[in-house]
Amino acid sequence: MAKPKPRKKNDTPLVILAWGLNIFGLCAVALVAVAYLALKPAHAAPQEPRVVFTATMPPTFTPNPPSLVLPTITPNPRSTMIVVQSPTPFVLQNVGSAGRASVATVGYSVSGRPIEVYIFGNGEHEKMIVAGIHGGYEWNTIALADELIQHIFDNPDIVPDDVTLYILRNMNPDGDARDHGIDGRVNDHGVDLNRNFPANWAKTWDREGCWSLTATTGGTGPGSEPETRTVMYFLQSHNVETLISYHSAALGVFPGGVPWEADSKKFSKALAKATGYPYPPIDTGCVYTGTLADYAVELGITAVDMELSTHKFTDFDENLKALEVLLNWR
Ligand SMILES: [Zn+2]
Repeated sequence: MAKPKPRKKNDTPLVILAWGLNIFGLCAVALVAVAYLALKPAHAAPQEPRVVFTATMPPTFTPNPPSLVLPTITPNPRSTMIVVQSPTPFVLQNVGSAGRASVATVGYSVSGRPIEVYIFGNGEHEKMIVAGIHGGYEWNTIALADELIQHIFDNPDIVPDDVTLYILRNMNPDGDARDHGIDGRVNDHGVDLNRNFPANWAKTWDREGCWSLTATTGGTGPGSEPETRTVMYFLQSHNVETLISYHSAALGVFPGGVPWEADSKKFSKALAKATGYPYPPIDTGCVYTGTLADYAVELGITAVDMELSTHKFTDFDENLKALEVLLNWR
């Protein structure tokens, strides 16, 4: 049987090492070295959830829904949100000056850590950033999300009047709390959350060309994990048009869809132009299953996986340009 055409990203330094056999070998080896050095960053993001609060659950909201029977899209998305009543000083100080920002807990991890979405603006065009799907292994994506949140607090006018921006700063808080290194990649069930979505889902896969530094699975079934169901629920109950799922490191911008969906390809090209990240992304031969971006495309969302250039830095300036592309994408 023909092997499925490889199409998307991989985070594996060892795979990058294999690229050392070609004419770009020296550069690839250098990238691997940087990635390994980055596993224990000098300025690590907070290991524990930064925002601690209690929130009142509206009766329509069910954290960790027990089955895949999910609500249909609601005509009033805000009705599903849980607005935090007592944000941290970090948030309170800036929400006050911005006047149109809030933060919500939209679900919980396996071990009960909150999954938070920051919300900016109130326009009809809904945009979303998801960071930290690979937890502490890609902690710099969470740090980037926090930098973007701070920047928007300080500069609320960058969000156009007709846009609502959601930033889910850390989809895998258990992995982030466990380790800022390879052991922080999976959730507390040992599942790779970017293999758990109900889009071409598989419990396991051929590891050739794929990240394989620790044991992991796609879960016991599609959408088996509470973190995954939290995002599924959020996307099904909102009208997100455009989505960036952040990863690290180095392989580029990957359009969602199998095969790559046309609008997501255009969006990927625009993001690559703004950031300098590779497009088409580097093909390591990995076959990807159950990804967030593929699931989002199935919901009609223009979606990409985008990799920061290292495991160490947030590439803030580049991703501020990417944010502009996201906010203005139509
Ligand atoms: Zn990743």
